[in-house]
Amino acid sequence: MGGLAIHGGTPVREKMLSYGRQSIGPEDVEAVVEALHSDYITQGPLIDLFEQRIAEYVGAKYAVAFCNGTVALHAACAAAGIGPGDEAVTTPITFLASANCVLYQQGRPVFADIRGDTYNLDPLSAKRAVTPRTKALIPVDFTGQPADLEPLMELARERGLVLIEDGAHSLGAEYRGRKVGSLADMTMFSFHPVKIITTGEGGVIVTNREDYARKLRLFRNHGMTRDPEELLRSEGAWYYEMQSLGVNGRLTDLQAALGISQLGKLPEFLRRRREIAARYSEAFGKMAGLRIPHQAPETNSSWHLYVLRWDRSEFRGTRKEWFDALRAENIGVHVHYIPVYRQPYYQTIGYGDVHCPEAEALYEEMTTLPIFPAMSDEDVSDVIEAVRKVHEYYKK
Ligand SMILES: *Cc1c(COP(=O)(O)O)cnc(C)c1O
Repeated sequence: MGGLAIHGGTPVREKMLSYGRQSIGPEDVEAVVEALHSDYITQGPLIDLFEQRIAEYVGAKYAVAFCNGTVALHAACAAAGIGPGDEAVTTPITFLASANCVLYQQGRPVFADIRGDTYNLDPLSAKRAVTPRTKALIPVDFTGQPADLEPLMELARERGLVLIEDGAHSLGAEYRGRKVGSLADMTMFSFHPVKIITTGEGGVIVTNREDYARKLRLFRNHGMTRDPEELLRSEGAWYYEMQSLGVNGRLTDLQAALGISQLGKLPEFLRRRREIAARYSEAFGKMAGLRIPHQAPETNSSWHLYVLRWDRSEFRGTRKEWFDALRAENIGVHVHYIPVYRQPYYQTIGYGDVHCPEAEALYEEMTTLPIFPAMSDEDVSDVIEAVRKVHEYYKK
């Protein structure tokens, strides 16, 4: 095997293995080409069908598709009535969008700490972060493991908050036997290529509330309506009315065609992700100093990410060294995520004093390993081999 590749040894594999990637098959290509030949290539009948299929799949009444998950979260914040001065409590261990969506509405994201085991928003910390100005809770189903929905729903009920679940990672995941998307007031799924299914770019909000669905649709199209039942007045057949401020957040029919096709393969995608995660956990669970992802018994993850934690006290060197060593073996490791409040922009807008100890400790010790349905068994073995190599070298 030789030494570590970072010291000039032979890397475990020749070609870099990315941490995530889409699986596009011939039936996906065919579906998009067919849509291209149809009468509608922007918002047409396939959007309705895609929305219907998503809603059915997760067990929600309504689904509203958007051009990406970020705009979908923004729309959810608008529908929840978040405005200037309002607060929303979220987790620092997430992609920027979970917090930025509050800023877009001139609100203020408030960061509560994560649980040390699941790395999801800690309901007790969230409860302490709630103030009279709090309008919403925005938990994230980090890595695909659903957040603590029951205590968060209870907190939302008690304090009159809207629960907006960022399910960018968790399409197909379950909480107490129910699909994510059927529980929170609004749930967002993203269809970015590394996520569970893809439409290129894309996102959706699912909800059981008709009033939210209506607001989301308005927001998606400039706050504009032509529906005779909604118009305040009418000046003729051409008449349209802007009733609130929205954006152009529409998905295209081409993308919906891809989404419908991808949804058909979702069970197989999930099966393969779970299989890869099980192989990893089987291998790494036996290596001292490594912490495999803890799975709360009430959850069934969709395994968007596999986060491996290295106990700093048991290794020589730093996370940067283990990370660089794995990259040199051609394993495309990543770090998800830098605590959002540490970003230079957040530091300039008053987050300089924020500290979430659990989030910061995790940040210093985590690496994300490649996981996606198209990985071969050999790819999985390469990852395990590379981790073993790096583990052996740095272990105290
Ligand atoms: C990907 C992601 C988003 C944003 O989705 P886009 O479709 O890329 O805009 C939001 N939150 C989390 C946690 C994500 O991983």
